[in-house]
Amino acid sequence: MQNRWTETEAISFANDPKGLRVYTSRLLGQEKDLVLQGGGNTSLKVDEMDGDGNRLTALFVKGSGWDLESIEEAGFASLQLDALLELARLEKLADSDMVQRQREAMLNSGDPNPSVEAVLHAIIPFRYVDHTHADAVLAIMNTENGKELIKEIYGDRILIIPYVMPGFKLARMVYEQTRNIDWNRYKGMMLMHHGVFTFSNDAHDSYSRMIEFAARAEAYLQDSGAEIRLAEPQSASPDSLESIRRSVSDIRERSITLNLDQSPDAVGFSNHPDLSQIATRGPLTPDHSIFAKRIPVILQEDFSESIESYSREYKAYFERNTNGDQARLDPAPRWAVWPGKGLLSFGSNQKEAKTIIDIARHTAKVIQLSEHLGGWRPLTEAEIFEVEYWELEQAKLKNR
Ligand SMILES: [Zn+2]
Repeated sequence: MQNRWTETEAISFANDPKGLRVYTSRLLGQEKDLVLQGGGNTSLKVDEMDGDGNRLTALFVKGSGWDLESIEEAGFASLQLDALLELARLEKLADSDMVQRQREAMLNSGDPNPSVEAVLHAIIPFRYVDHTHADAVLAIMNTENGKELIKEIYGDRILIIPYVMPGFKLARMVYEQTRNIDWNRYKGMMLMHHGVFTFSNDAHDSYSRMIEFAARAEAYLQDSGAEIRLAEPQSASPDSLESIRRSVSDIRERSITLNLDQSPDAVGFSNHPDLSQIATRGPLTPDHSIFAKRIPVILQEDFSESIESYSREYKAYFERNTNGDQARLDPAPRWAVWPGKGLLSFGSNQKEAKTIIDIARHTAKVIQLSEHLGGWRPLTEAEIFEVEYWELEQAKLKNR
């Protein structure tokens, strides 16, 4: 992992904290091993004037629906910091109410909706806060002894927060766990099964620490001999692809488009001797389930039977986990592992198919790395379901 900061570029933001925030956000976004598809978020605490000309501290935080890679100032929302801190002090708050209260705290009604992690950013008492879902760190966390390994690698100057559903519950847990700590003692925060936070009053510092943390995880994996399999693909016939496409379209009840990845690493994963075991344990981070569902379909010789069996299993998963209030999503797979051939994604358009193939590729890589550290241990089915059927995410999907 490379530190992309350059003084010559940064110098133009010397007196422009927001410009600098946009700059390092984009640097993070350029690194696909740190953030994928709208994942990750960043913020800045900055002095602003409210509508009556009073000075106050604002949280300038990434808006939802923006990708860090291409974010601009217009992609951030400015919120009253105090109003967010007030939310953190509530013992309970439904996520839909949190979103509403966040909107009420906005200084400019034209700004995008702030990230659902805004309250968490508010709690961290430093000007610059960076958050990513770094692949290498997740490869270490998502294992049997993930917590011990994280401690071993990063030492005691790291806060470790156990997994809890993102949104208000997570903000509240961080609030409770850090109420009496001296933040200056800590260099970063690890959220188990979720990602990494770094923070500093200096933009360069916070960014560089994120890169350093990811690089340290990468080095640890390398030293442990963790590697991914590479293989050459067998050819995929147009007839087979069309038949797969039709089967998925039938189940999804709409015409879908395919994206086939036959890169050596995609094929290497598809040939893995333990494929049926390791590919069906769960996703990299719970939010991936919103785009890509919990697990892929593994294609056997009879494509349509594989896809139908996936859809039966998806319906059973819904029944096992629903509280009775949710409406089931369509049971069609979003991606497939095709042994010997590679990875396939299914989207209602090319953009969706592209998003999903990116997620699939990173998932396949991280699973293999974790297997070297004693075994891939993602979140449980129930924990994934909670996020896949999160009211806020359902609303987001409808707007896509
Ligand atoms: Zn996150």
